[in-house]
Amino acid sequence: MPMPVRAAVLRQRGGPYAIEQVELVDPGPGQLLIKLAACGICFTDVGVQRYEQGTPLPQVLGHEGAGTVLAVGAGVRHVAVGDRVVLSYASCGACANCGHDHPQYCSNFMALNYAGVLPDGRVPMRQNGQPVYGGFFGQSSFADHAIAYARNTVKLADDVPFALAAPFGCGLQTGAGTAYNTLNVQAEHSFAVMGAGSVGLAAMLAAVDRGCHSIIAIDRVAERLELARQLGATHTILADGRDVMAALRAIVAIGIDRIVDTTGASPVIRAGLEALASRGELAMLAVTAPGTEITFNPNTLLGGRSLKGAVEGDADPQSFIPWLIDRHRAGRFNHAPLVREYPLEAINEAVADMASGKAVKPVLVMR
Ligand SMILES: [Zn+2]
Ligand SMILES: [Zn+2]
Repeated sequence: MPMPVRAAVLRQRGGPYAIEQVELVDPGPGQLLIKLAACGICFTDVGVQRYEQGTPLPQVLGHEGAGTVLAVGAGVRHVAVGDRVVLSYASCGACANCGHDHPQYCSNFMALNYAGVLPDGRVPMRQNGQPVYGGFFGQSSFADHAIAYARNTVKLADDVPFALAAPFGCGLQTGAGTAYNTLNVQAEHSFAVMGAGSVGLAAMLAAVDRGCHSIIAIDRVAERLELARQLGATHTILADGRDVMAALRAIVAIGIDRIVDTTGASPVIRAGLEALASRGELAMLAVTAPGTEITFNPNTLLGGRSLKGAVEGDADPQSFIPWLIDRHRAGRFNHAPLVREYPLEAINEAVADMASGKAVKPVLVMR
């Protein structure tokens, strides 16, 4: 029987969310019904809200859900009714990249995360008989209930509050994974993050955990740099038009060993490349604006430097998220200062606060 749920529905590109009642389908084979307690807001939600990305409307977005399993479809074994869980991105489990333990590069990523319908073709929600699309990142968690899949549902320890757990599903995984997995930051490295929003600060927290000797945060917003210092940055650079590369060289004369770029801005990435030490690595994780091109002197790459790109922190959620949450539980990854809670009904205010910088990581809580 379809179930009435409360959801933040996006009806128009560029428009606000409206809190509405919709009917959610029952979980099919390999699917789960989740009672959501919290969902973080990520820049990917904001991108789909603002710009045409091939996703049908009206739709329920939200892809950092956390909650409790209410029902499981046939074939779901690793979680049971009553388990606390975190939801991440969906992957097929059958393609070559999934088979090589790289579900973040799943051949079916777009179909499973952006199509607006479930993989079995069902429209997940209806209102007065009309379709309301969903299945966003295998969830659609701006709601009090969602359908998820075995592969993107990760078991959560009892002692982590849902509002702190939710952002592990995407933003924290993306930032921290880029530092731990893509760049394998170590104590002997100097580290810099360009763009100190929630994803950048998550990357920086990984560098703090690994004990990097110099940890530099760069941003245009002074308050974010203050937060970066609280979280363990040894140096900060306010990007107010000054020469960032020269500022980095003034801190570490031989260049920076590991850099994460979260800005997707070509002058910033170019400055980062030029600031790398020999054998240094720069990883970019942001989707750049259409038409963006980066020019740089290719001789920069001689000397063993490399430019890398990664999505979802090069992480398999089933192994990486529990590992990262254990780092958090051990006091080695303290992202709590990033999180600001809002009731689901205040979603438009939360999105505005994220855009203005008032909130670093807004997390919606369902009551
Ligand atoms: Zn796949
Ligand atoms: Zn995201």
